[in-house]
Amino acid sequence: MARYHQSVCRLCRREGEKLFLKGDRCFKEKCALEKRNVPPGQHGKRRGKLVGYGAQLREKQKVKRIYGVLEKQFRNYFQKASLKKGITGEILLSFLEKRIDNVVYRLGFATSRPQARQLVTHGHILVNGKKVDVPNFQVKADDEISVSLKTTKNVFVEQAVESAKGRGIPEWLELDRDNFKGKVLREPRRSDILYPINEQLIVELYSK
Ligand code: SF4
Repeated sequence: MARYHQSVCRLCRREGEKLFLKGDRCFKEKCALEKRNVPPGQHGKRRGKLVGYGAQLREKQKVKRIYGVLEKQFRNYFQKASLKKGITGEILLSFLEKRIDNVVYRLGFATSRPQARQLVTHGHILVNGKKVDVPNFQVKADDEISVSLKTTKNVFVEQAVESAKGRGIPEWLELDRDNFKGKVLREPRRSDILYPINEQLIVELYSK
């Protein structure tokens, strides 16, 4: 599956929920979902409430889109999660949260996950002082994440850090805003993920 290149606001309208794919705009009145909360397309308004397979599929699509993960990668995360001891859905979300692009976004070095992904792939992010340029890199407890010295002067990163002040930092991460650094304090827990996600529906979908 190719990466999605059309209007990302359509994805939010399709899911009927904010997926926060466009940075600051998502928190303003300009948000497309605030203005027009109906699914895209000619027959969008006619779509009724989903149950069963339809609901499971939509939940999976929603989570994939929030974290910007393609189908194959997402299924791999699920398979890895199902092999681990514990609640599969929660482990799946933990894998997604620990992606370096998500962590960069959560720490406020980028206004959205797509922007965070770009910072990572362009080599602007360091983990324990070493460049990491693969967005699916998994962080672990005690890892230190930082923005490379040159990039701390980048106006987009400065703006992102400023605008993220009101967003808050999850409890499993620690931020040293002045030095553009963050630390992983522990593994993310389900309670750290505040999105309205029903991960059990995804487990049911993939367990068929
Ligand atoms: Fe979604 Fe953000 Fe677009 Fe609103 S502005 S519809 S939250 S991507």
